[in-house]
Amino acid sequence: MAKRASRTATRPETGSATGSATGSATGTVPAAPFAHFLTYDDVTAYVEKLAAARPDLCHLQSLGTSRDGRDVHLLVLTDFSTGAPEDRPAYLVQANIHASEVAGTHLALYDAHRLLTADRALLQRLTFYIVPRLNPDGAEFAVTTGGAIRSRTDESEIVANALYPEDVNGDGLILSMRQPHPDGAFVRDPDDPRLMVRRRAYSTGPFYRVLPEGLIHAWDGGDHIRIGGRSFDWNRNWSYDWRPEPEQPGAGDFPFSEPEMHALSKFLHRRTNIFGVLGYHTGPAAVLRPPSTGGDADLPESDVRVLEELARFGADSTGFPVVPVVKYHRTWQRDIELRGHFHNFGYHHLGLYVFEFELGTARDAAGLDTSTQFGIFAEEEAESQMRHVLKWWDKSGRKHPLFKPWKRFEHPQLGPVEIGGFLSCGLANQTQARLKKIARGTHAFILEHARRHPRIAIEDVEAQDVGGGIWRVRARVANRGEFPTHVSAKGAGLRRLRPVRVEFHPAGELLSQQGHYELGHLPGVTGGRRLEWFVKRDGKGKALGELHVFGGAGGNAVMEVVAG
Ligand SMILES: [Zn+2]
Repeated sequence: MAKRASRTATRPETGSATGSATGSATGTVPAAPFAHFLTYDDVTAYVEKLAAARPDLCHLQSLGTSRDGRDVHLLVLTDFSTGAPEDRPAYLVQANIHASEVAGTHLALYDAHRLLTADRALLQRLTFYIVPRLNPDGAEFAVTTGGAIRSRTDESEIVANALYPEDVNGDGLILSMRQPHPDGAFVRDPDDPRLMVRRRAYSTGPFYRVLPEGLIHAWDGGDHIRIGGRSFDWNRNWSYDWRPEPEQPGAGDFPFSEPEMHALSKFLHRRTNIFGVLGYHTGPAAVLRPPSTGGDADLPESDVRVLEELARFGADSTGFPVVPVVKYHRTWQRDIELRGHFHNFGYHHLGLYVFEFELGTARDAAGLDTSTQFGIFAEEEAESQMRHVLKWWDKSGRKHPLFKPWKRFEHPQLGPVEIGGFLSCGLANQTQARLKKIARGTHAFILEHARRHPRIAIEDVEAQDVGGGIWRVRARVANRGEFPTHVSAKGAGLRRLRPVRVEFHPAGELLSQQGHYELGHLPGVTGGRRLEWFVKRDGKGKALGELHVFGGAGGNAVMEVVAG
């Protein structure tokens, strides 16, 4: 009657392929690296190995170029021999938008490794887009110098009496400087003199000023030294409810003013097949879900239910608590609205259930309960946590790159100082051993979220000879996945999540009034429509036509219909 054609609807891949797409020989997929924090070259070497080991399942592309000219690596994982990535429902994983939060890179690479090995079967029906290091420039600074940076620090405006970070003592690191000063805001902690704690009215000296390691531009020799540069937080640079500074610190000049964010947003808008998104971060351990402004009452109830259900699965698989973003960053007891946040962009502008995992910091590694960290009111409590972290580090053999002992140095401007302190990546991330364990839980979450993808199917295709060379063609077009093709209730009206379109391309003359159908969105599992066409066959050929279904997040399908 009818047979399934081996072809699928294909269109040219966008983005530049930097990996080999041909060749059937496959090699061993190297295990994900969990030995030390990765430099850009380490990440590049690993993703290149993945693409070389499984060219049939993994292509290395570039999402775009960073400000400093590095490729933002994009791994495209799917079974290329049976279909194009854009024709399958797709899941996107992004990591390391914040410079020092490099744990996410390890987990994203672990996800890629698992998908190319144990979970390979998924690539028959799904595509995974993995961006393991969204901020290669910032991460390189954090990994190689240990310096503190949010996403990017712009130092194009150099002003007088401002200090700009620099490796002053030539040890390769950019840490902190401490120096006795009568007006200094810090004292050495009486219990652990490595730790600098806030000076209080009752504190006895010596008092210290603590500054980033660096040089002061056009210094007048006075006491007031500003910290130079403008800090950007790329997780505040997204289009939904974006607000400029000072209303939203770190927001940038306008939505997507940062080229790396622009590249990812463009990618997300163009890939109408993406149905799920996950981001990796490293704040106090938590499973974050929308909203990042307002409250649950602003969202359709059915969406809140799915968000909460999936987040709870993530909590079970990782041991982290579930927290709506608005409840995560708090000042003592007050919720904070995060404007221009990725969560709200993903939910309100893409219509997707977006999650972010906060993978924990050195505090979590040291065994502290960090679930209330943002709500800590007393400075003493925060200081006691850091004391605990240093003790844990000493006991654990100091393998985790957390702290550099203070060392005397003759600063060309300030005179005698001590240089040392915490390394940003060590403080902001858990140990490699713990990350390796956490990766299993976060990966299990991805599989659970991805399992619910919408899925376009062409079923019950019949071609019946009704006489006079005329054939009646019938078929059912359905969504047999769990999510509707608009994914969330929010997504139903958005342009990005494309409604289902069916095109019948007749091999002969189409006698039906309508060849193409706009089916609108289809609900999950039972969302099907039966369609019918009449065709006058061309000569003696067996072909009656071709059925093309464009299902957006549910994927695309093609079937050739032939006279039986
Ligand atoms: Zn973060």
